[in-house]
Formats: sequence, structure tokens, C-alpha cells
Amino acid sequence: MAPILRLSWRVLGILVAATIVPLMFAAPAAAEPQIQVRTIYYDASRAGEFVNTVHQAAQVWNNNVSNVRLVSGTPASITVYVDNGWPRAYVTRLGVGRFYMGRQAVNQGYYPLRIATHELGHLLGLPDRRTGLCSDLMSGSSAPVSCRNATPSAREAQQVNANFAGSLALAA
Ligand SMILES: [Zn+2]
Repeated sequence: MAPILRLSWRVLGILVAATIVPLMFAAPAAAEPQIQVRTIYYDASRAGEFVNTVHQAAQVWNNNVSNVRLVSGTPASITVYVDNGWPRAYVTRLGVGRFYMGRQAVNQGYYPLRIATHELGHLLGLPDRRTGLCSDLMSGSSAPVSCRNATPSAREAQQVNANFAGSLALAA
């Protein structure tokens, strides 16, 4: 009886040690800050002749911000359409909503890629800022029709990063 009991305690000791050791190694890893990149899926399949333009616009944002990543796929939280009206965005909440690649602006000569990155900017939490500057993406049509800048300014990129900082808990 006694030897069996001793063996049992020894086995128990090994089991306890085997449990504790992984926990000791696991704890510091869990305490490390997580990478705060939120993935947002978008659906460009209804953007007609602007499907590729929308993909390019998503890539522009991915190249300029670090806290959010736009990925083509469904179910999507951003849906892109096209119609004959003026380009516009409907934002349900940060990273969720839809926008239209309006042909009216394209027909007036506005640069489609700039339109797409601008409207995506709204979905990423940026308001219109009609500065008239081509270097600003959110200046929209207040910049000259000839403006072909489709890249967010450093300030705009910084604002989007701030909007998505620590937003993993909101991920949908
Ligand atoms: Zn706008």
C-alpha cells in the first residue's frame, strides 16, 4: 500500500510540474501587446467598370496605414457600387458601410482612383476637409479637377491609424 501511495505522489508531482511549466512559459507571451491590425473586408464586385480602381484604392490605403488592412472578400463590411450620380459614402460606423463610384464626377474629369481612395477614406473615419489642396485626399472636389493625387497625406494616414488604434474589440 505504502509504495503505491509514494508512486502516486511521484506521478502527481510530475503531472503538476508538467502543468506548471507550460503555464510559466505561456504567461509572458500572453502579456505581450498584441498586433493591433484590424482586417476589413470589402466587396468591389458591384463597382462595374471601377472594380480594379477600387482594388487599387484599397492597396493605396494598405501601403499608407498600419493599423487597418483592407482585404477583398465576403462577407464584406464595405460594399462598393457604381451609379450615374456623384460619388458618395454612407458610413454606418467606423469600417462599416458602402460607397458609390459616381460616374458624374468621372465624366467631369475627376480622377477615378482619387475618388475611390477618398470615399474609402470616409469609411476609415475621415471627414471631408475642403482645403482645395491636391495633396489632401479628403479635400475631394475642392482640389482642381486635374488633381491626380490618390495618396493620403501624412496627417490623413496618421488620423486613420489613430482611428483604428486598439480597435480589435470592435472587429466585426
Ligand atoms: Zn467626401
